[in-house]
Amino acid sequence: MAIIVLLPTVPVWADSGSTVELEGNPAEVHRWLWENKLQPSLGQKQATALSLDAQTAANWQEYDVYFYSIDLTVYHLSATISGRVGIYGRATVDGLDTVKVNLSDSLTIDSVYNSSGNLTFTHGGNYLTVNLDASVNTGEGFDFTVVYSGHPESSGSFAGFRFTSNGGLHLITTLSEPMGARSWWPCNDITTDKADSVDIIVTVDASLVVASNGLLESDIDNGDGTHTVYWKERYPIVTYLVSLAIHPYAVWYDWYHYSPTDSMPLEFYVYPSHDAYSRPFFGVLPEMIGIMADVFGEYPFIDEKYGCSHFDWGGAMEHQTLTSTTSSSFGYSDDVVAHELGHQWWGDMITCGDWHHIWINEGFAVYSEALYHEAKYGTNYYHTYMNAFEYTGGGSIYIHDTTDVWNIFGAIVYDKGGWVLHMLRHVVGDADFFQSLADYRAQYQWKTATTEEFQAVVETVSGMDLEWFFEQWIYGTFRPIYRHSYLAEENPAGGWNLYLHVRQLQATSPTFFTMPIDIRFETLSGPHTEMVFNDRQNQNFVIATDYEASGITLDPNRWITRTESSEFYTIHILTESLSDGVQYEYYHDTVVAKSGQGSFFCRISDGALPDGWELDSATCIISGMTSDSGSYAFTVEVMDENNSSYSDTASYAIEVAGSVAIPGDANFDGGVDVGDAVYLINFIFKNGPDPQILDWADANADCALNVGDCVYLINFVFKNGDPPVLGCM
Ligand SMILES: [Zn+2]
Repeated sequence: MAIIVLLPTVPVWADSGSTVELEGNPAEVHRWLWENKLQPSLGQKQATALSLDAQTAANWQEYDVYFYSIDLTVYHLSATISGRVGIYGRATVDGLDTVKVNLSDSLTIDSVYNSSGNLTFTHGGNYLTVNLDASVNTGEGFDFTVVYSGHPESSGSFAGFRFTSNGGLHLITTLSEPMGARSWWPCNDITTDKADSVDIIVTVDASLVVASNGLLESDIDNGDGTHTVYWKERYPIVTYLVSLAIHPYAVWYDWYHYSPTDSMPLEFYVYPSHDAYSRPFFGVLPEMIGIMADVFGEYPFIDEKYGCSHFDWGGAMEHQTLTSTTSSSFGYSDDVVAHELGHQWWGDMITCGDWHHIWINEGFAVYSEALYHEAKYGTNYYHTYMNAFEYTGGGSIYIHDTTDVWNIFGAIVYDKGGWVLHMLRHVVGDADFFQSLADYRAQYQWKTATTEEFQAVVETVSGMDLEWFFEQWIYGTFRPIYRHSYLAEENPAGGWNLYLHVRQLQATSPTFFTMPIDIRFETLSGPHTEMVFNDRQNQNFVIATDYEASGITLDPNRWITRTESSEFYTIHILTESLSDGVQYEYYHDTVVAKSGQGSFFCRISDGALPDGWELDSATCIISGMTSDSGSYAFTVEVMDENNSSYSDTASYAIEVAGSVAIPGDANFDGGVDVGDAVYLINFIFKNGPDPQILDWADANADCALNVGDCVYLINFVFKNGDPPVLGCM
């Protein structure tokens, strides 16, 4: 639904005579409506809460209703109804002998019967429990008819069944989302139990027009001042979308031509004073349905109708095939007309699995508005439209507490919900995004879906694991606060290296958002856009280019809900990990850092390198040989030479693998032979180079390097002497 709660006037709109002029950007109007939406009084909240009893008391999972026959007589003068509702279901468990349906205690049950006679029942706690005449097993059918009457409860602003008036004329309307159907007819009032079809038969004063879901089957004059109007909804429908609109409406028609030879009626039930006035506004629908059909696939209820009927609730509600809408300028805006039409696919054809996942209805409907505007007015307008209603507050799109209607329909599920689809589109790309919508429709049409079911479809189409995306955006709060900097450096091998640093500053949950981010580089040859995949709170990117950037913009087209700012590129360590080492082998690796300021030096600020390894403070090269092995953790700090506030640190963990010592291998060539003796003689007598590993060169293990080691080696090599042993230098 699109909610504006009994807002008396909308200042950004000017009503004058028969025209309504929109001042400013419609998306701004949308936002204005949200920001100024009136909160319900406490009394309304309490009244609403009364109808939101938990479903746990029902045995809704033990049966499946496939058909309702709703036959009501509406007494407009006494504001009462009498009803005869047939419920046709099948057991989903063996031995089902009672069926518990929702029905408000404000209604009085006269009897419950079926072809075998009257059935016993109890009614209390807003439940009707019917004892079947015989138990039924899984897949077997049952039916009964409930005869009842009374004044249906009205539950605050989210009213179930309302007797009001407009222009002094009686107005009887319903709005049952989320759990108001039970306030006027007995039903399994839960989204997952859609009926395959519903008959809606209403007897009422002959002066009143009756509009409802589906197709008009008949309208019979009873000859007693009443008539009986029979509507048939033959597409699956959830209980909260069954609706009545009764008033001496002016009725006018239009057509949606979906092929050269086929068309579907559009029906408008408007206040008589709005007969001519409403036509230009609802006149956009033939084109609008065509646009949405191009994007989402054909209008779901193509064998029936689409239309709008006026009611006096301060918003609009996507009743299946017949949206109810306020007669204020809000209800005539393209945004709202598109929103409710979008719901016919998203909300009606596929309904949220439960109210925790209401964004499956509302986020999609909001995004339908944007897609309609994109198709009609182009990409720039699409972005302008999206940008106008970014949601900046806290809370999660997943609604944890669904006991309060005002939680379910908070702005976050609309605005941030719409943005989730906007962002997802950029993450997976247009082709996969729209293919996902098509596959989602194919898989879940006439059913319900949860976030995870939608996610699975997009993952299958895109081949991407999108757990991170849905986890942070549907279950997380707030949005990223980016700060970025960059450094452009000529590459000696040609071209340029662009060093980009992105960090996220938010302390909210999650503390960082994983997202692909577009980066636009300004260059003499025009802008170049690169995408980086940011999956850390502090992250460096090195982008090789053939251009020098003179400036950058993060997320220039605003595909992410975020704030961002830039800063100077100070100093950043680019090396994320160092190679592991091997005992007795020479090690060499470099901690690469870039400074946008000037010279810098490196040091070990925490932990220690293996014995024998050193960090060169000027080059940040780590090198050396160690006789140790094991795990080492250390932190390298780089710091500007002139400004100690410019520094960066990186922590590393490396392994030094153990290696077998080769005692006597003085020249470090992997074996022991006369060459080692020669090497030692050169070292001792002729100022030759040091042995690499002193312990190996100390062949006689006397803890000194001297001629004795040379003699020992020669004895071993030529005279069958004792083998060298590991020394103790
Ligand atoms: Zn909506």
